[in-house]
Amino acid sequence: MQGNLTVLGLGAMGSAVAHRLRTAGYTVTVWNRTAAKTAPHTAAGAHAAPTVAAAADAGDVVFVVLLDHASVREHLDPAAAHLRGKVVVNLVTTTPNQARDTAAWAADHGITYLDGAVMAVPDMIGTPEARLLYSGDENAYAIARTALDTLGTAEYTGTDPGLAALKDTALLAAMDLMLMGYLQAIAMMRTAGATAADTAAEVEAWLAAMLPHGREIAAIIDGAAYDTGGQSVDFDRHGLASLITASREQGVSAALLEPHRRLLDELAATGHGASDWPRIIDRLTVPR
Ligand code: NDP
Repeated sequence: MQGNLTVLGLGAMGSAVAHRLRTAGYTVTVWNRTAAKTAPHTAAGAHAAPTVAAAADAGDVVFVVLLDHASVREHLDPAAAHLRGKVVVNLVTTTPNQARDTAAWAADHGITYLDGAVMAVPDMIGTPEARLLYSGDENAYAIARTALDTLGTAEYTGTDPGLAALKDTALLAAMDLMLMGYLQAIAMMRTAGATAADTAAEVEAWLAAMLPHGREIAAIIDGAAYDTGGQSVDFDRHGLASLITASREQGVSAALLEPHRRLLDELAATGHGASDWPRIIDRLTVPR
C-alpha cells in the first residue's frame, strides 16, 4: 500500500496509533480538534493539517480515532468530498448500527470504508497483544492491511460493517459484568476488614478455576437442550437468594445481583424451573 496515512484524533488512542504508524515508516499527517496536541507529533516528524479536509487530502488511508460516533459524523460529513476515493479506517468505539450507518454514508460518497474496534489500551498498540477487529469492505482491509498489521494483531470479522463493533461490545459487556463481580466481592469482604487487593487476588483465583465452565454453558446453549441434569434454574435461584441475603446482612447492596434473580424468577414462572440455568439466554433475547 502507499505510504501516506492520516490520523484524525490525537487523544490517548489516536496518539498511540499515529506514533506507531510513523515509527513503522509511514508518512503521517495528523489533525486534532485541539491543535496543540499535534506538537509532539510534528516534533517527531509527522505533518499537521489545519483542517479535517486538508488532513484527508494528505492521506491515502485515513484513520479515525475520535471519541464517539457523533464526533466522527460531525467531522467526516463536511469533508466527504475530500475523502472520496480514499480508504477510511474508523477505530472509534461505536455500536454495530452506528458502524453500519457510517458505512452506508461512506458508500454514498465513494469512500472505501472499514470499521474497526480496538481491543487494547494505548500502551499495547504496536504489540501482538493488541487485538484489532475489522469489518466491512474487504478491499479496504486488503489495501490497509500492511499498515493495520503494524498496530497489532488484525482480525477481519466479515463484510457486515457492524460485526467488529458487535464483537467489541459483546466482549466489553462480558468484561463489564465480570469486573462488577469483583466490586461485589470486595464490598462484601470489606465489611470484615479485608483489603480490596486481598479480595481481588481471591476473586482472580476463583474465576480462573471457574472459567472452563463457560465452554460447558456454551455447549448447552448451542445444543439448545436445557435438560442435561446440570444446575437447574431452581437450584440457582436458591443459590442466588443466599448471595443476595448475605450481601444485605453485611450492609452491602444487592443491586448488581437482583437483575440476575429477576431473570431466573421469570424462567421459573414460565415453567422452566427444572431447566438447566443457561436457559436464561432466552430471557436475554428480546425483539429488536
Ligand atoms: P481520549 O479522550 O483520550 O481522546 C478523545 C479524542 O477525541 C481527542 O482527540 C479529542 O479531541 C477528540 N474529540 C472528542 N470529542 C470531539 C469532537 N466533538 N470533535 C472533535 N474531536 C473530538 O480518547 P481515546 O483516544 O482514548 O479514545 C478514542 C477512541 O478509541 C474512543 O472511541 C475509545 O472508545 C477508543 N478506545 C480507547 C481505548 C483506550 O484505552 N483509551 C481502548 C479501546 C478503544 P481534543 O483533544 O480536542 O479533546
